[in-house]
Amino acid sequence: MKALQFTAPNAMSVNEIAMPNIADDEVLLASRSVGICHSDIELLEGRYIIPFQYPIIPGHEWSAEVIEVGRKVAKFKAGDRVVGECVIGQEHFGFSISGAMAEFFIAKADWLHKLPDNVSWTQGALVEPFSCGYYATVRADNMDASDTIAVFGAGPIGLGVIAASAAKGGRVIAIEPSEARAKIARTLGAEDVIDPTKGDVKEAVLEATQGAGATVVIDASGRPDAMASTLEVAGFRGRIVIIGISVGGTASAGLGLIQSKELQIRGIIGSPGVWPETIRFLSRTNLDLSKLVTASFDISEADKAYHTVLTDKAQIKIHVTNLGN
Ligand SMILES: [Zn+2]
Repeated sequence: MKALQFTAPNAMSVNEIAMPNIADDEVLLASRSVGICHSDIELLEGRYIIPFQYPIIPGHEWSAEVIEVGRKVAKFKAGDRVVGECVIGQEHFGFSISGAMAEFFIAKADWLHKLPDNVSWTQGALVEPFSCGYYATVRADNMDASDTIAVFGAGPIGLGVIAASAAKGGRVIAIEPSEARAKIARTLGAEDVIDPTKGDVKEAVLEATQGAGATVVIDASGRPDAMASTLEVAGFRGRIVIIGISVGGTASAGLGLIQSKELQIRGIIGSPGVWPETIRFLSRTNLDLSKLVTASFDISEADKAYHTVLTDKAQIKIHVTNLGN
């Protein structure tokens, strides 16, 4: 079977390797759609946050079909459509243990969730990144149609935040300099998109909210200056959620605003415990996230897909598909 392997820092190839064998509590899966994520690039460059060994098969954003189940697996059967969580205890699926960027792969039954019939393979492979954006809206406490949500950054995670916030009935103001991303933000429900390179973001948000500021502010940009700006654009008792990652980043911020505006600030990591709810939300809202996928490649060209991620910064999410078997 074909698999994309990272074989050394900045070295990868699609190789013919042996089919994996399942243990009693495992499931053999045929990948259907697999997304490429920024953290895959860190793995390719050899600087992932936890230790790993070459060769490694990446791929933690995926949908797949069950081919065979181990003797002790009762919850799944051949033909089931599934997605799976990627942080499993101390291991990271697709990082410290091999992932889904192959024709076939194995996973423990405990990591899997069934995909409803109306959620496509493409949408299924977007559950992992979307669950992070969705979780940000959950941690913003009781988000509803009374909220105005300012979202910094409209990359794959920010677009998920925008889509979930709008689907919950909120009014969304996105802050994003790229015109291509702004366009997708609008189709996913952003009412206004502010270009932070053209004028003052705080003034623009205040103007859009009749001076009140946003009731919810979510940073999905990972930029320290944007994180500092969340304090400025939040209204009185605004709820701020930080999901963007900035290891070691610093910026000067108007810290007095935390007290004077009675702000609530939360940092979040990943999407713990919300996968079943995220999948149900996608299924019941019929939210079309497939607009995030700007290119796709067959598994036999998975290396080309990675090269495209590395060289074409206009891409938002690239998928690798395996629909041939
Ligand atoms: Zn990811």
